[in-house]
Amino acid sequence: MNRIVAGNWKMHLGPQAGYDLAVALANRIPDLQGIEVVVAPPFISLAAVRQGLQGSHIKLAAQNVFWEKQGAFTGEVSAAMLREAGCQYVIIGHSERRQLFGETDVGVNRKVCAALNNGLVPIVCVGETLAERDGGETAAVLERQVTRALLALTTDDIKRLVFAYEPVWAIGTGRAANVQMAVEVAVAIRDLVKGLFPDSDSIPVLYGGSVNPENAAQFASRPEISGALVGGASLQADAFTEIVRAFYKER
Ligand code: PEP
Repeated sequence: MNRIVAGNWKMHLGPQAGYDLAVALANRIPDLQGIEVVVAPPFISLAAVRQGLQGSHIKLAAQNVFWEKQGAFTGEVSAAMLREAGCQYVIIGHSERRQLFGETDVGVNRKVCAALNNGLVPIVCVGETLAERDGGETAAVLERQVTRALLALTTDDIKRLVFAYEPVWAIGTGRAANVQMAVEVAVAIRDLVKGLFPDSDSIPVLYGGSVNPENAAQFASRPEISGALVGGASLQADAFTEIVRAFYKER
């Protein structure tokens, strides 16, 4: 199974700055056997970043998708449009979307289905808040999010899907989960999926939440963790390259 290191640029870098970072990454990150490198710029920068990545093996992702094919859905973008724009992956259910934009488990599931139906690999984000962890609800929250995200999917679909465990309290806070915690949840998610789809292969589970060049090797050293979803540190070419290298070294 390839490992995946994906950069979530969030609402940073318009077309020109996105192009510049894409070129810098393309120059720094060669084709690394066994590692898939992905960047997710804002919608408006997808075309420019695609251009900047030309000739490299770095793949393009979107940060969101809408489930309808087309129509009167102001401000939304369909999975087919993302494919046309060169995306191979799409981040779905990021905690910022769940918390700030009211995204529900039902919506996440519809987006996952739309992505799969259009040949995009969904990177489905799940994770508990600090209150949920402190309240001993982590397992229940993850079970709910994972189960609902996969509603109506087939074993075949599961082959083309990635989970990212992103504890909400670790995102953008500089306070990463400890590695043991991340490993435990990665294993739990994998077991959950196996329970729901007994014939499926082991599913990739990334860790996300304040991954940086200093802590990347710890996460990378654990085979249970299939890669990283990186926010802040993915905006700097050198930092993101170092994280990619850490996962390559420890693969
Ligand atoms: C993210 O946005 O998915 C993320 C993990 O952010 P950060 O690395 O900045 O915590």
